[in-house]
Amino acid sequence: MVGAGLAGVRAGEALRALGFSGALTVVSDEAELPYDRPPLTKQVVAGTLTADDIRLAGAEDFGARWVRGTAAVGLDRERRRVRLAGGAELRYDGLVLATGARARAWPGEVPAGVLTVRGLADVRALRAAVDGGAREVVVVGAGFVGVELASSLVGLGLGVRVTLVEPFGRPLRALGGTVPDVVAGAARRAGVVLRLGIGVTGFRAEGARVAGVELAAGRVLPAEVAVVAIGMAPATGWLTGAGLALPGGRVHCDERLFARTAGTAGVAEAAGVVDPRIVVAGDVARCDAVRSADGPVALEHWSNAAAQGELAARNLLAGPAGAEPYVHVPSFWTSAFGLRIKSVGLPGTGDRVVAEEGEPGTEKLVEAHYREGRLVGAVSVNLGKRLAGYARRLQEEQGAAGVSGEALARVSGEVAAGGGAAG
Ligand SMILES: Cc1cc2nc3c(=O)[nH]c(=O)nc-3n(C[C@H](O)[C@H](O)[C@H](O)COP(=O)(O)OP(=O)(O)OC[C@H]3O[C@@H](n4cnc5c(N)ncnc54)[C@H](O)[C@@H]3O)c2cc1C
Repeated sequence: MVGAGLAGVRAGEALRALGFSGALTVVSDEAELPYDRPPLTKQVVAGTLTADDIRLAGAEDFGARWVRGTAAVGLDRERRRVRLAGGAELRYDGLVLATGARARAWPGEVPAGVLTVRGLADVRALRAAVDGGAREVVVVGAGFVGVELASSLVGLGLGVRVTLVEPFGRPLRALGGTVPDVVAGAARRAGVVLRLGIGVTGFRAEGARVAGVELAAGRVLPAEVAVVAIGMAPATGWLTGAGLALPGGRVHCDERLFARTAGTAGVAEAAGVVDPRIVVAGDVARCDAVRSADGPVALEHWSNAAAQGELAARNLLAGPAGAEPYVHVPSFWTSAFGLRIKSVGLPGTGDRVVAEEGEPGTEKLVEAHYREGRLVGAVSVNLGKRLAGYARRLQEEQGAAGVSGEALARVSGEVAAGGGAAG
C-alpha cells in the first residue's frame, strides 16, 4: 500500500477485516502516525485539538510493516515492484494506490513565510509564525482550506489581521446559490478583509522574508505570513512512466477502482484496460463511477476517501471478476465563521438553484441544485440534518439508473455517517 492517509488506513483495516492474513506493507512519506485532515484548518489551527487528538484510530492495529518517512519514487508494473527513495524495492502481489494530493504550490519562487497547508507540519509552521508575533496574514484563495484558515486565525483572539484574496469573486463559489454570499457576509462580520475578484501576481520580500502580497491592480497588501490556498495537486509524479492512465494527474480507475492503463511500460496490454493487481482510492483517484452529466468527476472529500479505501481493499481481494462497483452519494462538510455547511451530490454541476428550506441568503438554508429538472445536489447552512432527504433522493436516482440494492444499502450507511461532525 502506498499512502497512509484516510484512504490508505481504511484500506488496511478492511484488508484485515476481510480476512487477508498475508504480508501487508504500508509506505508513507510522512514520518507522522496517520492523522485526519479536516480538523487541521479548523480545530488544530484554533488550538482546541492537538496532533494526538486527530490520529486515525485503527492505523496501528492492522498488523502491517510500516515504512514511514520514505517516499515511493517509482512503479514497475511488469516486475511488480515499488521503488523507494534510497533505492530499495518492494515486491507486491496487490497494490493499493492512496497517495492523495499535495497543496498546489505557487508557480514560481516564493520568499520565506509564504506557506501552504495540507498536513500537520504545515499547520505547525503557520501556528509558529503567529505565535512568534506575525499579525498580518494574507490568505490567497477562498476555497474551503482558505476560508477555514481565515476563520480559525481571526478567531484566535490574538489580534491577527486576515485578508482573504479570491480572484474568482466569491468564497466557496463551488457551492453555488447564495451560500458564497452568506460566507462572505459572515467573514466580514468576523473581521476578515475580503478582496474578491482580484488576482495575486506575486510576493514582495524584505530580505528573504515575505513582506507583501502583490495584487493584479498594482496594490501591495502588507503580509508577515501569506498562505497560498489555491487547491491541490494529485501526488502522482512518482507514477510517471508506469503506464497507468493519469488524466489531469489523477490515477484513472474503472467503476470497481482498478487502475486503468495507458498501454505502455512494457506490459502487454492495451490502453484503457485495467491492471488487476492495482486498486486506487481517495483524492488521488479519478473513478469512472463518480460522474456528472459531463463525465467523471474527481472528489476531494473525506467521505469519498473513506468509502473508496474500504471498497478498494474488498475488490483487490475479490479480483476484477468478483469486484463490486463503487456506489457513492458524494457528501462534504466545512465549517467557518460559525456556519456549518454541508453538501450532498454534485451541486456545482447543476443549471438551476432552488431555495427549498430556510431563507436564501441567510445563515439557515437549504438550496437544491437541479440539472435539466433532475436533482444533482443540495447545500445546507446550519440545517445539515435536512440533507438526509436529499441524499435519499439522489440514491433513488442511482437506483433508477440500475445500481444494485446491496450497493445502495451500503451507501445509505455512508450518507448517514458522512460529515457527522458538522451537523
Ligand atoms: C486541510 C484540509 C481540510 C479538509 N477538510 C475537509 C472537510 O471539512 N470535509 C471534507 O469532506 N473533506 C475535507 N478535506 C478533504 C479530506 O481530508 C481528503 O479528501 C482526505 O484526507 C483524502 O484522503 P487520502 O487518503 O486520499 O489522501 P491524503 O490524506 O492526502 O493521504 C495521502 C498520503 O500519501 C502520502 N504520499 C503521497 N505521495 C507519496 C509517495 N510517493 N510515497 C509515499 N507516500 C506518499 C501523503 O504524504 C499522505 O500522507 C480536507 C483536506 C485538507 C487538506
